[in-house]
Amino acid sequence: MHVTVLGAGTMGHGIAQVSAMAGHTVVVRDIEQSYVDDAFDAIESNLEGGVERGKVTEAEMTETLDRLSGTTSLSDALVDADLVVEAVPEDLDLKKETLREVEGLVDDSTVIASNTSSLSLTDILSALSTPGRGVGLHFFNPVHIMALVEVVVAEQTAPETRAFAHEFVEGIDKTTVEVADSPGFASSRLGVALGCEAMRMVQEGVASPADIDTAMELGYNHPMGPIELGDVVGLDVRLDILDYLREELGERFRPPQVLKRKVRAGKLGKKSGEGFYVWEDGERVGVSGEGDR
Ligand code: NAD
Repeated sequence: MHVTVLGAGTMGHGIAQVSAMAGHTVVVRDIEQSYVDDAFDAIESNLEGGVERGKVTEAEMTETLDRLSGTTSLSDALVDADLVVEAVPEDLDLKKETLREVEGLVDDSTVIASNTSSLSLTDILSALSTPGRGVGLHFFNPVHIMALVEVVVAEQTAPETRAFAHEFVEGIDKTTVEVADSPGFASSRLGVALGCEAMRMVQEGVASPADIDTAMELGYNHPMGPIELGDVVGLDVRLDILDYLREELGERFRPPQVLKRKVRAGKLGKKSGEGFYVWEDGERVGVSGEGDR
């Protein structure tokens, strides 16, 4: 199958990698050549890591790279595409515009997927004159490691498109869950709900961030506690999602004050060096003083 990935960023390069590893011919398109080059560097580095860990053979690495190409030309990227996955930034107008352009350049049978993590897929697909070919494929970061893909079914998604999406995802060795298009899908909605309640508990002095995280790690076998996960994802990202879910689903997603304070203070988590925890060189080294209040 020919797969075209639009956007060579964090998600796009990973989607391209796993598709090529599964035997598909893949073209990655970004708006600047340097982004395409960065994506190929990242893919090579992921594959080299796989070889070092004995997960990928040298031959598989070479074959995967041979199946991949990159371009800045949208029309070149779409030649013979059976599946197009858009992984451009999370901006509704950009996604709609991108899909409109794609539809004008591909065959009637080409399936068009969006990797949106929070926007309404139904809204995105309204840009298409043949929206039945549209579906959501919500991958997780880092794509080459994470086993899950949410298949998001919009109002307009045709049954054959839905079946195609499941078959494609299973073919690239990932596990699907199917979700109707709804705010936060299954994963973000539940993950954010847990993180939000954990932050309220910090705010109320129920327990320290570290103890809440340890409780979930050891008591519920979560690989990482909800407060630390918020720091890793980025507290600004968490706040944006909560604002959106509150608007769509109601007050139970009202962001806690402690989260708003952190974001206003520029304490965004791992990426800024401090959130609920203090971070150095990507490692958690302490608890933020304010987080205990
Ligand atoms: P990113 O910023 O890392 O990458 C986006 C890329 O798209 C950039 O390289 C940008 O130059 C490129 N781009 C912009 N306009 C374009 C166009 N018209 N055509 C082709 N490329 C274009 O973003 P990301 O984190 O990879 O996110 C992409 C999508 O995936 C978003 O919808 C996001 O919500 C979703 N998503 C992200 C994550 C995550 O953890 N980062 C997880 C799941 C889903």
